[in-house]
Amino acid sequence: MSSNPLERLGRSFTFRLSLGYAALFTFSAVVLFGLLYLLLAATLQSKDREIIEARLRECAAVYDNGGLAALQDLVQRSRDSGKVKSFFIRLAGQQGSVLLLTAPEDWVQFDTSALDRGGDPSRLVWLRIPKDEQSDFTVAAMRLPDGSVLQVGRSTNNREILLQPFRRDFLIVMTPTLLLGVLGGAFFAHRATKPVREVVATARAIIDTGNLSARVPASARQTELEELARQFNRVLDKNQALIQGMREALDNVAHDLRTPLTRLRGTAELAVQATADPAAREALADCVEESDRVLTMLTALMDITEAEAGVMKLNLEKTSIASLLTNVVELYEVVAEEKRITIGTDFVTPCDAVVDATRMRQAFANLLDNALKYTPEGGNVRLACAVESGRVTVRVRDTGIGIPPDEQPRIWERLYRGDKSRSQRGLGLGLSLVKAIVEAHHGKVSVQSQPGEGSEFAVVILQSGLLA
Ligand code: ADP
Repeated sequence: MSSNPLERLGRSFTFRLSLGYAALFTFSAVVLFGLLYLLLAATLQSKDREIIEARLRECAAVYDNGGLAALQDLVQRSRDSGKVKSFFIRLAGQQGSVLLLTAPEDWVQFDTSALDRGGDPSRLVWLRIPKDEQSDFTVAAMRLPDGSVLQVGRSTNNREILLQPFRRDFLIVMTPTLLLGVLGGAFFAHRATKPVREVVATARAIIDTGNLSARVPASARQTELEELARQFNRVLDKNQALIQGMREALDNVAHDLRTPLTRLRGTAELAVQATADPAAREALADCVEESDRVLTMLTALMDITEAEAGVMKLNLEKTSIASLLTNVVELYEVVAEEKRITIGTDFVTPCDAVVDATRMRQAFANLLDNALKYTPEGGNVRLACAVESGRVTVRVRDTGIGIPPDEQPRIWERLYRGDKSRSQRGLGLGLSLVKAIVEAHHGKVSVQSQPGEGSEFAVVILQSGLLA
């Protein structure tokens, strides 16, 4: 079940949500920047083309009206004024002879043959020829009414020069934005999933500690998840009320049954003595035995209720826990011998503590009883007692069938019996009583167990008992 922290992080809903946010954010930012770049490049290109086309049409009109001489004159005048010297103008006759060619200085390396590869410019044709890293030659060509081809060009910035600052700015702007996106995403995801975490923590607390009154902290907010937490609390309220009702009903039944059953037992006992018929005597003896069994169960139920409610009367006195344990071991010697189970003890000190000796003996007896019951023949049971910093710890360890992890939290419940334990005698009340008695002494009882290997129950109580 357990996994390393990285795996857990990968499975975390909050983490995935933040990662999703960040990915979406990055993707949107890249798309936005890309679109912006394309738009900018397209605008600049169309601006360049507009200028070139205007010049081309101006030259075409002049040539149309005044022929080659007028065009030459226009070119000359423009060159003199220095106004539009950056334009390249070329007029090729029908046979391909160049009638006019004027080019700015940076066009010396321009390969004019490239122009003739452009096909037939019956309409306006655009040509873009790479010049160097920063710029291109953009040329517009058009066939004039007399069949000659007029070409006007200019050097324009290429996309790379646009892209470079764009890329640099993209990184500069995006790094903090992304960081902000990731942190913001993590913050919001963490906040949004808070109710889920609280629901999980509450459910876990109830399962682990059996504390039915645990609830998800209330929040005034109205999100779906807060609503989930609220409804979860309502289910818990209902559950608690139901369980409470069941317990009370059980207590009432136990209480009401005890008196008639005791009377029944007494009557049967008297009848045994008064009857000579062996069959009737046996039947009546059975009645007494069965009544005893049910009475034990009813008494245990009542004791648990009393202890849990804090009204169990405890006769507190300084007691040696070690001698209590020795007593208990003596009680079970016969049972252990029958099952060929060895009971070992491990006490170095008397382990004095202020407790109700009878109740505590009852608790330890239940633990030892279980250890013997759930350990197959030939096994081992060990009882240990030690004192450390004002606390007495008693351990009852066996080499028995063990308890599966999913059953461990439930074994303390009233009337709960493990799956594999049904074949054994028992009422499912032993451990509930142990827990109730130990907790009435403000102590703690816990279990560690491996199925197939054995179990260890530990009881920890304060030496000074309730006086602490
Ligand atoms: P039961 O009457 O069934 O023994 P308990 O309340 O004493 O009732 O114990 C509850 C359940 O805990 C048992 O049914 C059994 O499954 C499990 N259990 C208790 N002690 C042991 C043990 N020493 N080894 C294995 N299982 C145990």
